[in-house]
Amino acid sequence: LSQSLDKAWDIVRKDGKLTADNIKGPMREIRRALLEADVSLPTVRQFVKGVEEKCLGMRVVKGVSPDQQLVKVVHDQLVELMGGQQAELVTPDDGPQIILMAGLQGVGKTTACGKLALALQKQNKKVLLVATDVYRPAAIEQLKLLGERVNVPVFELGQQAKPADIAKQGLAKANKEKFDAVIIDTAGRLQIDDTMMGELREVKAAVKPTDTLLVVDAMTGQEAAGLVKSFHEAADLSGAILTKMDGDSRGGAALSVFAVSGRPIKYVGTGETMDALEPFYPDRISQRVLGMGDVVSLVERMQEGVQEEEATRMAKRMMENKFDYNDFLNQMRMMSRLGGLTSMIKMLPGMARVSEKQLWGAEKQFKKWEAMIGAMTDEEREDPDLLASSNTRRERVARESGEEETTVSEMVATFAAMRDNMRGMMGRMPGMGGMSNEQ
Ligand code: GDP
Ligand code: MG
Repeated sequence: LSQSLDKAWDIVRKDGKLTADNIKGPMREIRRALLEADVSLPTVRQFVKGVEEKCLGMRVVKGVSPDQQLVKVVHDQLVELMGGQQAELVTPDDGPQIILMAGLQGVGKTTACGKLALALQKQNKKVLLVATDVYRPAAIEQLKLLGERVNVPVFELGQQAKPADIAKQGLAKANKEKFDAVIIDTAGRLQIDDTMMGELREVKAAVKPTDTLLVVDAMTGQEAAGLVKSFHEAADLSGAILTKMDGDSRGGAALSVFAVSGRPIKYVGTGETMDALEPFYPDRISQRVLGMGDVVSLVERMQEGVQEEEATRMAKRMMENKFDYNDFLNQMRMMSRLGGLTSMIKMLPGMARVSEKQLWGAEKQFKKWEAMIGAMTDEEREDPDLLASSNTRRERVARESGEEETTVSEMVATFAAMRDNMRGMMGRMPGMGGMSNEQ
């Protein structure tokens, strides 16, 4: 997905701002990319509409290029599409937490029961597993095996009992013996049918779960949309677990679940072992899908950290060639508020080519500059020519800042050159060899 999106960003990058016109191309690419990732068509439509609405009427943020801004919008919209926040399991005020697992056969329900049992146990909860898959003899054995592996008891009544009865008695045991959590495994079928849904509803009515989770195989792709819809209509889901994320799925299912049901994915399964379960973080998935996490956080920090007025004022002073050492100090401090120069520069597109050594050098140099500017008088800061024309002044600054006199001279020369051709905020930085943020 990220590769095909790259092309899209290029188109916007060339224009100065986001317009209804220039986002058309990228939106077409994004649409295509999402469909290729196996996201269902209605979900894609909803997504594209959301992005378009957000782009129009967008405020321009200083220091952020339009393509970066579009990445951010797409990212935000993806996160929104997946439910925004990471969603926890429901924890009731009293009584045990009751988790009902639903889903088709082979998607990983039983495995997920074991994984979740382990995860809850790690939260110091006393967990009971309940086996209601009475159709296959191996199913109960499988759960018992997993239960042994994670050291959690399994309640079962053999294959003759009715699933709803097993669930009810399992819950009674949990109440009596003060378990904190009950996880109920159910039978799945290869396809959605009324018997399966009916049984699920019966079990649900018998135990009133705090969470009803649909287990979805990530490989399901766009069919996930229909699946989630049916299960949600039949059993009022509270969320989902997306399994087999370690496989080579295209990720489409992750985008469909919340979009279709309004219920979040709460966990993802990432392997066959019992510890291969992770909370689902929409923002991390989105950044992975886009492959542009760095740009997203850059824009976020810019929006938070840069006071636009300050940036405008600075730009004006640069333009009028009034930029002095005070402005420079301000600018450095503004940047350090944004989280350090090194991390900042690394986030700029095209800056990947800059080596660690160069980055480190630039940051180190900034520290020296700060010390040397600190040793200047107010006069000297406001009128850079004073230092440029006086050897004695440079000597004094060197002495007071603890730097070599040649270092002071270098700064003065660099500052003069910088002042001459400074245009953008990020324009020319000392030690950066005159790189600009326009790539
Ligand atoms: P159920 O029929 O829904 O209960 O599915 P199972 O729990 O029996 O799992 C079916 C198969 O999928 C088993 O071989 C599991 O080991 C495998 N499986 C389950 N979850 C994952 C996962 O997250 N990643 C991988 N790679 N395999 C999984
Ligand atoms: Mg099973």
